[in-house]
Amino acid sequence: MPESPYPMIPVDEAIAIILREVHPLPAQSLPFTEAAGCVLAEPVRADDPLPPFPASTVDGYALIAADHGPRRIVGDQMAGYVAGMRLSAGEAARVTTGAPVPSGADAVVMVEDTQEQDGLLTVNASLSAGDNIRPVGSDIAAGETVLEKGTLLRAAEIGLLATVGRAVVRVHPRPRVGVMSTGDEVVEPGQPLQPGQIRDANRYALMEAVRQAGGIPVDLGIVRDREDALARTIERGLAEADALLTSGGVSMGQLDLVKPYLARHGVLHFGRIRAKPGKPLTFGLLRGKPFFALPGNPVSALVTFEVFVRPALRQMAGHADLHHPRRPVTLAHAVRHHPDRTEFQRAIITPRADGTLTAATTGGQQSSRLLSLRGANGLLILPHSQGDFPAGAQVEAMLFDCL
Ligand code: AMP
Ligand code: MG
Repeated sequence: MPESPYPMIPVDEAIAIILREVHPLPAQSLPFTEAAGCVLAEPVRADDPLPPFPASTVDGYALIAADHGPRRIVGDQMAGYVAGMRLSAGEAARVTTGAPVPSGADAVVMVEDTQEQDGLLTVNASLSAGDNIRPVGSDIAAGETVLEKGTLLRAAEIGLLATVGRAVVRVHPRPRVGVMSTGDEVVEPGQPLQPGQIRDANRYALMEAVRQAGGIPVDLGIVRDREDALARTIERGLAEADALLTSGGVSMGQLDLVKPYLARHGVLHFGRIRAKPGKPLTFGLLRGKPFFALPGNPVSALVTFEVFVRPALRQMAGHADLHHPRRPVTLAHAVRHHPDRTEFQRAIITPRADGTLTAATTGGQQSSRLLSLRGANGLLILPHSQGDFPAGAQVEAMLFDCL
């Protein structure tokens, strides 16, 4: 077997190289309506207090808490208006939820605790000043920082931007990631299979993985194992995306063109890692853009995405927290492991009553067997320094979802 020209580097070193070479995308000003899913590149402060006026929290009557006996109803104060009335001793005004409390009043009584007859209000509850009123600035003070730099804008954060009237915000854009499959045997899933062909699983799986990592996939299609076709698609990707993701074409076959292409036209930082699956994982920069060449086997492609690509995309997106969480888990059964590479076994990890986690692998761990990822919610990380693990042993696991 010919020697690979690419030294095999440890997993941690590969991750460190990637994170050293990949940078947050420059901040942009975006309308807040287009900023969901982005990370804030500036803190956001409230200019005005919320509520901006003392507001009733109920439908009822504004009045003076210390008054006694029936009150004379002098008017209505509905949400959205300012009636401009001023209450004196013995008076009350009808108010709705969210209405400004008329000046002079210091409490609101809810309608359920009252009776109204002939313009007179009887109160059947004891009242204190401040009851059922949200004071000015009680939700948000004027000048308060409502969102810190580095915050991911989700539903609540978009609501906050709207609340404080921030029409335009500085954010790191979501990285656009060009995704292509390589291989003469790979065809579109909708097409009838000719002899020797297989359907393209990787491109569709990886585009979804990009989305779940917070990026925007750019579909670059399937590329034949020919250098001119590869070059054309890569050019298109460089024009349309911030990073490139290929799968296949990084093994030792004579048509494995991706590594030599990257080495010739860009900077190849590594071409092999001490990992299973994922040994041929390749990373470099092409015209300054991160280029990830993932192995062709579907499991290898997805596992290397989660371990190596996702943190890079999160760094490009401006996140500080890059990696899936890691926790110790107890093996539910013995696990065989050859101590030459770091192995990522797909597992189903379950919390136990005592709060610890237990893990069972998903069956056959061949890198072609996509079924080994079905239902998996994490990866066992079997270090390259250690051999087989007995049932009950503790190992570290990477969790895809919160447990
Ligand atoms: P390669 O890295 O190109 O040698 O591919 C390794 C294995 O992965 C081969 O069995 C390929 O047929 C398979 N493979 C490559 N690309 C894909 C793909 N997009 N979808 C499913 N299997 C693939
Ligand atoms: Mg191939």
